[in-house]
Amino acid sequence: MSYFDRYTQLGLQFTVASSPRLANKASTKKLNLLLWNEDVADKYAIAFDKEHAHLYLSGHTPLEGVIPKALAYSGHQFGHFNPTLGDGRAHLIGSFNDRLGQAYDLQLKGSGTTPFSRGGDGLCALGPAVREFVMSQAIGALGVPTTECLSVVTTGEDVYRESPLPGAVLCRVASSHIRIGSFQYLALHEDKEALSQLLDTAIERYYPEIKEQGDARILEFLRAVCKRQVTLIVHWMRIGFVHGVMNTDNILVGGETIDYGPCAMLEQFSFEQVFSSIDRQGRYAFGQQPNIASWNCARLAESLLMLFAADNKQAVAQMSEVLTEFASDFNQQYQLMWANKLGLLDWRDSDANLLSELLGTLKSEGLDYTNSFAALTNQLLDKPLCCFEVPEELSPWLSKWQARIEEYNTVEVCALMRSVNPAIIPRNALIEQVIKDYYEQGDSELLEHWLPLLKDPYRYQEYEQQYIEFTTENTHYKTFCG
Ligand code: AMP
Ligand code: MG
Ligand code: MG
Repeated sequence: MSYFDRYTQLGLQFTVASSPRLANKASTKKLNLLLWNEDVADKYAIAFDKEHAHLYLSGHTPLEGVIPKALAYSGHQFGHFNPTLGDGRAHLIGSFNDRLGQAYDLQLKGSGTTPFSRGGDGLCALGPAVREFVMSQAIGALGVPTTECLSVVTTGEDVYRESPLPGAVLCRVASSHIRIGSFQYLALHEDKEALSQLLDTAIERYYPEIKEQGDARILEFLRAVCKRQVTLIVHWMRIGFVHGVMNTDNILVGGETIDYGPCAMLEQFSFEQVFSSIDRQGRYAFGQQPNIASWNCARLAESLLMLFAADNKQAVAQMSEVLTEFASDFNQQYQLMWANKLGLLDWRDSDANLLSELLGTLKSEGLDYTNSFAALTNQLLDKPLCCFEVPEELSPWLSKWQARIEEYNTVEVCALMRSVNPAIIPRNALIEQVIKDYYEQGDSELLEHWLPLLKDPYRYQEYEQQYIEFTTENTHYKTFCG
């Protein structure tokens, strides 16, 4: 496979050459390729010979012909604008084309400081690397657009957080690393030329059908990004994913999930659920995610404004219209999502009550989101499984729902529900235990057992109860930015 540099043409504002910490370091004995994602390697035909993989994937040896880079970006962090963020602990080591000629980036995380480190150590502890490795696979298998993880290499050196922890370098595969914050950065620097090139690079990668449209392509790009954000957030809401840090620098214009730092899965149902220890106001609570995505798209719109050749006022009006469509588009897809989860082959006005009664009961009774929908699905199977039972608290509601779906063909309803209601998700306690295993033992039998199951989340089968059954302790589960 040949690798190339995809961002250099965007200028020094945007990309800065930066050597990974371990580049050409004499001793490589302590480097160990701990985790390798064969599925991702196969999918993209990525091949490293076994003897050298750890050298490339730790940042020790550069890929042929490519100088590692850090990318600049700005970002609204919890609503506050930070003009200079950028890759503070990540290096882009090269891009490649897949079999269809589509470009992807390989990026190392935890590979040392860059000009954007702002006093940080540029490192990543093993735990967050394992979290991203497992979560990104599970989230991808649930049908959610996501960046992927190729490998985790342990460095044999400690990373100091609250205590010393083993250090690791993760390798991520992404269709690009162009974030809303990338546009914000170039707009802030009033670098119209680079901004326009960034726009064209993103359009070429994601929306080539609009590239010939002159100024109209700016609006169409915004519209397309909004649509992908809507799709992404609807998926998150469907599976109960709480991202935790939806800052504009963590939002890719290609619409994939990125940055698995403080994410977690909703267990007891609540739109107010927050897991991240730093999200004290609940800005990124489960139910806030659609609003925040829309807010983030408005920040993209602001950054794009400078690109219009003439008549800014008209552009503002047109962009506002596109942003308004976000809400209508979202509402439509969100309704369809709930219809699918409930097995309703068409949606009637009265279904809104049926849904809110269910969600109200889930919330007031502290019921588990995934298991409740899985239980409803399960009882329509030919041979219902013992591990899912509809909670008693839902009995009054259950009969209303059963009456509602009676008119449909049960096989069709069941197939629809199975396709959207997972039987298994990467539960918070499981992820924590896997991380603990890696810290304490250097591997995890638990992961070996559960990863194949997490990769097949819509297959209803009997599970050992331990990590399927949620425990109420998990509502107080806290995540950190690693
Ligand atoms: P995040 O909240 O993970 O998206 O990170 C926000 C910013 O902080 C990005 O610019 C990161 O590169 C930077 N950052 C996070 N952790 C570190 C670290 N340990 N060293 C240097 N920069 C970091
Ligand atoms: Mg980030
Ligand atoms: Mg992060």
